[in-house]
Amino acid sequence: MAAYLAKAGVKCVVFERELFPRPHVGESLVPSSTRVFNELDFIPVMEEAKFPHKLGAVWTADEQGKEYSHDWDVLGPESHAHIRFEERAQPGVNQIYTYHVDRGKFDMLLLKHAQKLGATVYQGVKVSGVDFSREQPSVRFNMGHQEMGVNVRMVVDASGRHTVLGNQLKLKVHDKVFDQYAIHTWFRGFDRELLTKSRAEGDYIYVHFLPISNSWVWQIPITEDITSIGVVTQKKNFAKSKQGREDFFWNCLETRPRLSDALRRAEQVGTFKEEGDYSYAMKQLCGDRFVMVGDAGRFVDPIFSTGVSIALNSSRFAHKDILGALESNDFSRASFSNFETTIARGTKNWYDFISVYYRLNVLFTYFVTDRRYRLDVLKLLQGDVYDEARPEVLTKMMKMVSEVESNPGHQWHKLLGDLTSHAFEPGAEASEPELVEVV
Ligand SMILES: Cc1cc2nc3c(=O)[nH]c(=O)nc-3n(C[C@H](O)[C@H](O)[C@H](O)COP(=O)(O)OP(=O)(O)OC[C@H]3O[C@@H](n4cnc5c(N)ncnc54)[C@H](O)[C@@H]3O)c2cc1C
Repeated sequence: MAAYLAKAGVKCVVFERELFPRPHVGESLVPSSTRVFNELDFIPVMEEAKFPHKLGAVWTADEQGKEYSHDWDVLGPESHAHIRFEERAQPGVNQIYTYHVDRGKFDMLLLKHAQKLGATVYQGVKVSGVDFSREQPSVRFNMGHQEMGVNVRMVVDASGRHTVLGNQLKLKVHDKVFDQYAIHTWFRGFDRELLTKSRAEGDYIYVHFLPISNSWVWQIPITEDITSIGVVTQKKNFAKSKQGREDFFWNCLETRPRLSDALRRAEQVGTFKEEGDYSYAMKQLCGDRFVMVGDAGRFVDPIFSTGVSIALNSSRFAHKDILGALESNDFSRASFSNFETTIARGTKNWYDFISVYYRLNVLFTYFVTDRRYRLDVLKLLQGDVYDEARPEVLTKMMKMVSEVESNPGHQWHKLLGDLTSHAFEPGAEASEPELVEVV
């Protein structure tokens, strides 16, 4: 956001509570990020940093995958489905790959880029809240023991899952369906080619399905030698277990023996990190003199590596409304309605896609491998989700789910996941998350 505004000649100040570089989860991007990098002249920086190029995605399952009787590639004991981004052209995107990133490095480069474009950046300054009681909001922060404030024309909350304004204004609502939990770390020397079909696929993102309900593993290249591995599962699976978190990680991995054997031979770099309770929405994404971008406005399950692209694209849309507000000197909520509508539409599409995904489980790969649906699914996977109210392929996927649900004799019936089953009950509106107000 700061890079966009500074590039347009707007005077803006960033308050960042950490000192960069700082580690962060969310390392695999989708191609809609590239559009933002293009607009901000940031591609040369990405290339110079030598972030691994991400050309596509692979999903794998163990022999259980064979039960799903569709057109998987069967590789020894495993089933694979894969897709390449270059199979579909995307507006604003002129390269066939996106990137995997070490977030410490990536976020720092982006912050420096904003600074180079003219933004003023203060690191190590934690914002405690915003005083909206006067005409101009005052951003509050502490310096030593003293509370200070700076008056501004408007505020952008980009505080991620800290949701500074969402908490202060009591706008936050938790998503009680996606109560997922993740545990992750990095490994050095993990043989990424062991589970690939071809060498070229070694740097794709891998999603390995686990034979535990609603659970999967991500495999994300960070450098040539380092790979990020994370287990995502329902929090209740973890809570039930009496084991330590590391045992839990390894027990999950051991349900996929080839993967866990390869990881055991690699060297773990750093400690395990956990993320939990992370899906929520806000009752509104903007108001008089404020907007909320990225995770500060909404978080949807990370199965499709969406978070960074939503953060980047919410700034792409919001900065246009902000420029309009500056020009008309009208900072009322209505000035930011284009942003709010567009982001709400995009994240609703993600949410529906994720709901279908968790209901179909491994069967999701049926839509990837069937050429009738492949490119439309790819459009979603590319993060190209903001222009259509409900992409047709989502409707088709939901119809398929309903057919399988209503026919106990269907060969896939017993394979349906239970996490989002409510979302497709007759009369239920799948697009609306089941949200619980935070008290
Ligand atoms: C398990 C898991 C896996 C994920 N995997 C992926 C993935 O593969 N790909 C992907 O794209 N996304 C992924 N995500 C999502 C991704 O992490 C986020 O969506 C993304 O980082 C959001 O960016 P942001 O800029 O909105 O927030 P952040 O990157 O969190 O940045 C917010 C910044 O605000 C600062 N801040 C917070 N509070 C204050 C304050 N009070 N004052 C000043 N500064 C403050 C923080 O220090 C931080 O630097 C994943 C998330 C989870 C939980």
